Amino acid sequence: MVTGIVGCAGLLPTLAAVRAGKDLALANKETLIAAGPVVLPELKKSGSRLLPADSEHSAIFQCLQGTPWAENARLSTGVPTPGLRRIQLTASGGAFRDWDSTDLEKATVADATRHPNWSMGRKITVDSATLMNKGLEVIEAHYLFGLDYDHIEIVIHPQSIIHSMIELADSSVLAQLGWPDMKLPILYCLSWPARLETPWRRLDLTEVGQLSFRAPDPAKYPCMELAYAAGRAGGTMPAVMNAANEEAVAQFLEEKIHFLDIPDVIEAACERHKADLMAHPQLEDVLRVDQWARTAVREQVNRGTTRVPMTIMAA
Ligand code: MG
Repeated sequence: MVTGIVGCAGLLPTLAAVRAGKDLALANKETLIAAGPVVLPELKKSGSRLLPADSEHSAIFQCLQGTPWAENARLSTGVPTPGLRRIQLTASGGAFRDWDSTDLEKATVADATRHPNWSMGRKITVDSATLMNKGLEVIEAHYLFGLDYDHIEIVIHPQSIIHSMIELADSSVLAQLGWPDMKLPILYCLSWPARLETPWRRLDLTEVGQLSFRAPDPAKYPCMELAYAAGRAGGTMPAVMNAANEEAVAQFLEEKIHFLDIPDVIEAACERHKADLMAHPQLEDVLRVDQWARTAVREQVNRGTTRVPMTIMAA
């Protein structure tokens, strides 16, 4: 089964498929992020296999096939893979990659929904602009491959040709390369462990010319830090952060809050949740905190404590 529903709405159908023993191609990262502690034991119980359709996780998964721990990795049960030292997730940097952080005050919905490399839906394109998408992928990688957060890193790679890298115990680094196109990660879920012949445009590095890399600026991308903090807090915190982000992005797309409000309202919801955090949540707990976080964000927006969007000011 391919789960391609956007957001936490994908949780219940995905869980139903796992309980029915289906193998899954997971394109819905929010399921694992919100409910990793619920989904992973269910996978173990039913023997369902979780194959990552997210391009970065597909890249890591493909690289792991060449290691002695391929069996462990392909089961994706969140068990640490011995000898896997580090994961480096590549990020395009999103729509504001080449903007100064001081210019973000002028960012509009039209600016934030224009992705430089990948053609994706509006929610995930805004998540790319805030780098929350990569933050969510850090948590997703943690649950898929079992590494702790100190060993999952983000690197900005504007060309989006390297889709992610792994470093092994002997310091060897493996990467998976290709044009930025979701067709391959989806195909690989369906063909794995086989490789199918395709007529698709082949990668030509001389055409690409240059691959460049830089460290992401935490001041420019506060959502990245919020995601690491939520991942480290664990339990119900990633569910709260994810729901707060979904609601914040929806409010931004409706022009009710400014782009720079997105991290602020997420942080406020996470702060409030600290006192109620549950380390070992059940499904009901995840669903409850998810609803709570959405309401908390809406209430904050309705109180009017956020910035006024530029478009409204101009009007
Ligand atoms: Mg991705």
